[in-house]
Amino acid sequence: MRRAIMVILDGLRRDFITEATTPRLMAFMRRAEYFPAFRSAFPSATRIVSATFATGCFPARHTLQGNAVALLEDGVLVPHDVGRPDFLLHKKAVTGQSLAVPTLAERLAPHGGAIVFNNVSPGAARAHDPDGFGHVYHRAFSVGPGLRPVDDPLRVNLDAAGDRAMTDRFITEVIRQRRPAPGVLWCGEPDHIQHNVPLGSPEHLTVPREADRHAGMVMDAVTRERDNGDDILLIVASDHGHETVSGVIDVEEDLIAAGLKHGPDSSDVVAMANGTATLVYLHPEAASRRAALDAHLRAAVWAGSVFSADTLGSVGHAPDHGLAFAVSMRTDDGLNAFGVPGRSLMAKPRWARPDRLGCGQHGGLGVFEQSPVLMIDSPDFKAGERRAGVVRIVDLAPTISRHLRVPAEGMDGVALQVGGAHGRPMMSTGFSLVSPPLSHGKSGSSP
Ligand SMILES: [Zn+2]
Repeated sequence: MRRAIMVILDGLRRDFITEATTPRLMAFMRRAEYFPAFRSAFPSATRIVSATFATGCFPARHTLQGNAVALLEDGVLVPHDVGRPDFLLHKKAVTGQSLAVPTLAERLAPHGGAIVFNNVSPGAARAHDPDGFGHVYHRAFSVGPGLRPVDDPLRVNLDAAGDRAMTDRFITEVIRQRRPAPGVLWCGEPDHIQHNVPLGSPEHLTVPREADRHAGMVMDAVTRERDNGDDILLIVASDHGHETVSGVIDVEEDLIAAGLKHGPDSSDVVAMANGTATLVYLHPEAASRRAALDAHLRAAVWAGSVFSADTLGSVGHAPDHGLAFAVSMRTDDGLNAFGVPGRSLMAKPRWARPDRLGCGQHGGLGVFEQSPVLMIDSPDFKAGERRAGVVRIVDLAPTISRHLRVPAEGMDGVALQVGGAHGRPMMSTGFSLVSPPLSHGKSGSSP
């Protein structure tokens, strides 16, 4: 039987894979193919990455623009936290669609369905299958086809122990017993701890060690199933890395002070913080402010790369649904107190607590938040090799589809099996999240 198993260790930075911290991943790198130029989506934030992974399409097509977004509702730009369990249901009620293109769960519903075990935010879990074609198990909701609650919901905490309990269930129930065509295990660590302690600190480093054990448990379970004759594609990856927060910027306050937004609750211009990125929405009635906003953002000391209507395409977006600008906050290559490189300003979030100075964060185009992990193991990949060239989140769904022998029509990504990426220019320099490279915003190349 052909199957695909994906293990995502949320937020794991590529340079934290070491013999001391992650021995199982180091060993796996030698028997899998390794992708040292794998990139996250933009914003490099879990909910939008999840939708991008699930659909194989960029945000311009699946229409979930960020971890926090604004929706034009009854003529008003309304801010939303996509992490809420009901956000995509609300988006469907407002816009007619949760995601505008099919997910793997929908595509594979006629082939036995997909099962996702997920320990990140409820909204990120929902993005894998918002319309209820397969099964999604999450600590806040566990549902099957038709979004009907299951009898055996996932009851874990968002920490390493919760990931461990979820991994145990995933191995027993998904890998051994239910055996769906695709099974996805999306662990909450080490992302969760990295938001709360400095990268590289002792409190941090115990957690990637635990995540490494969880990945190793799945590797062992897959080996047993292969010994029993199954042809399993095993993907071990992360969704983004992290940078160290070097400062917190209240972008809306900055826009108000510049006379570009009326007030804190006004609907003319709405800036939605996405960690180290910001999405700026412009109400149609305030369209005359576009040029002034553009000039202000490009001159802002806190802005790194600025993308406007004509360049949003280079980072997978479209100027739709009120989205006027996307900003990756300013980064530098300085070290934190534990010698870990990569710092970034973050945008002050509307809901979460903002004082995360010195801890990890992500969302932008910084070198290290755009350095997630990707290793793929199957007979179609070259054991122990490192493949040069940029590989994107959108390439995973076509790769899974090819292994399962189901069509990937309409996806933006390409299958990564040997031969699958031929004909696509491999970009080893320059910063573009789409292919071929388009024009860039303010700084263009990686900061
Ligand atoms: Zn994440």
